[in-house]
Amino acid sequence: MIVLDNIETRCRFFRQRLFGWWPHNSRAFAWRELSSMYELLIAELLLRRTNAPAAHSVYLEFLQNYPTTDSFSRARAKDLKQLVGRLGLHWRAQNVVELAQHLRVSSSGIPDTLEGLSELPGVGPYVARAVLVNCGKLRAVPVDANVVRVVCRFFGLQVNDSLRRNKRFQTLADSLLGNVQAREFNYALLDFASSICRSRLPRCANCPLATHCCFARIPDSVCEKQNREPRSAKRHGKVG
Ligand code: SF4
Repeated sequence: MIVLDNIETRCRFFRQRLFGWWPHNSRAFAWRELSSMYELLIAELLLRRTNAPAAHSVYLEFLQNYPTTDSFSRARAKDLKQLVGRLGLHWRAQNVVELAQHLRVSSSGIPDTLEGLSELPGVGPYVARAVLVNCGKLRAVPVDANVVRVVCRFFGLQVNDSLRRNKRFQTLADSLLGNVQAREFNYALLDFASSICRSRLPRCANCPLATHCCFARIPDSVCEKQNREPRSAKRHGKVG
């Protein structure tokens, strides 16, 4: 077996294998088509703690009702709450209402900097980063719980929720990018986390990264072993 003995080599392996897998396994969502900052911002707000297929139908209806920042800023709070509330999370619906109110009184529209976006009601650092990456204004990997899980497993790090805000972890995640488009890398990583390196029962037997993944290779590594795919399921390919 080839030993990948430095971070750069491991990152290159990760990137190449991920991009070998993704063209045959990418998911199609409306916000992945050419989208404006406004559309990407709405998508990210709807995707918070919500799986993408569930958010998709509400996203389409949202943009049909409020196709522009201007129409959104004039929306009635009651209608916004009703629509966004279908995805659960009362605080999210309230945040969307406050964002509309903010845009109505502010003359500057949606800012296109990390600092400016992060200060919008209900946005915060992850959503701001994801919006800027997905509209091609920032080269970075937006780090959420999915990215923490995949990167920690691959590099053999202890999964810790605080890593989402850790600068050294952000640097490690950004190192995975190499020269590829950040937007595509982000979508590829999200698809991979959703269908292969799942939170529960990761599909290591079908994973393109398995040969050099710490979680898959090292018995009793620091990763969360209780989530392993059962051996019998691996052997017979009985995983969904
Ligand atoms: S081998 Fe398993 S733990 Fe490692 S990246 Fe693949 S699915 Fe995740």
